[in-house]
Amino acid sequence: MNIMPNNLKRQYDLHAAEYEAKALEVLRSGWYILGQEVTAFEQEWAEYIGRKYSVGLASGLDALWLSFRVLGIGAGDEVIVCANAYIACVMGISMNGATPVFVEPDKYDNIDADKIEEKITDKTRAILAVHLYGQACDMTKIMAIAQEHNLKVVEDCAQSHGNKWQGQTVGTFGDIGCFSFYPSKGCGAFGDAGAIVTDNAELADKFKVYRNYGSRVRYQNEVVGTNSRLDELQAGLLRVKLKHMHEFNRERNEIAARYTHEIKNPLVQLPQIRPGADSTWHQYVIHVKNCKRDALIQYLQGQGIGTIIHYPIPPHLSEAYQYLGYKVGDFPIAEGFAAEVLSIPMYNGMTADEQSYVIAAINAFEG
Ligand SMILES: *Cc1c(COP(=O)(O)O)cnc(C)c1O
Repeated sequence: MNIMPNNLKRQYDLHAAEYEAKALEVLRSGWYILGQEVTAFEQEWAEYIGRKYSVGLASGLDALWLSFRVLGIGAGDEVIVCANAYIACVMGISMNGATPVFVEPDKYDNIDADKIEEKITDKTRAILAVHLYGQACDMTKIMAIAQEHNLKVVEDCAQSHGNKWQGQTVGTFGDIGCFSFYPSKGCGAFGDAGAIVTDNAELADKFKVYRNYGSRVRYQNEVVGTNSRLDELQAGLLRVKLKHMHEFNRERNEIAARYTHEIKNPLVQLPQIRPGADSTWHQYVIHVKNCKRDALIQYLQGQGIGTIIHYPIPPHLSEAYQYLGYKVGDFPIAEGFAAEVLSIPMYNGMTADEQSYVIAAINAFEG
């Protein structure tokens, strides 16, 4: 059997006729940028997440950096983020000239909220809460800390579309919720796409101006903006995806439940879910103990099973962030995670046989 870590064709096949009909409709409409599909998707996405406004953008990274831009956070400011974040989270901060300040993750692979306060200085302006792998952060603690220290909160929901913390959808806690619709994400487009959600009309308006060269009225430019327009084709296709979000999230939860009940190997630590959190299981991330990760990757590869490491180099050690001056050992928990995490196959349309094959292979691994 040959099993890829993610298989986008399977998800496409589940509703192929609907995507194809929508694509043709948009192609034949003669209108391709900022039209009725984008407007409709923004309304539907805001409603799905449970916020007043959504603004469609070109990517998740744009959602992040534009969030700090519209909040007026830049040079001289500090933003708190987990040390095991995806690099885009950190770039969203640093592209504005602000300084990322890292906080170690806890055993749930998300920011350890108990370690945030010790990192707050008089320059701290915001917390970026990344709901990594699909699991919600402890938004109760994060919001309380933000309130006490008068900080903005931006939520990175790029891996956590429609997920909940204590019954409330992520992206509705902070000032702004950011989404990526990169094809492999929980709600994936057929190319690059992103969006923000907010209840703040003024902020929503700023995103609309920034995404279109800083322009509200054609050829009148209020600010130095960018080109980050969601296109009609992606918006239309995302509207189809959105109709099936409950089904996608439920299916991945079922696959995760099987993994959690049936994978039994002393070398493998299964993902842990924080009480109060749900997960959309964007990834099913195991921790492989005793330095056996590379051996497990090789072994699974030999059986036709592909895996991915999310992420092998923590941002503070990446070449891009050498200028921050960190060294190996500065964030030992995040560095330890980088050496032991492994994402095993997880995708919509994964068959029961494929799941059984992955489970049996991992259970038979002896190190
Ligand atoms: C994918 C992702 C992003 C970036 O989104 P793009 O659409 O690829 O720019 C940001 N943060 C997280 C957590 C992501 O998973």
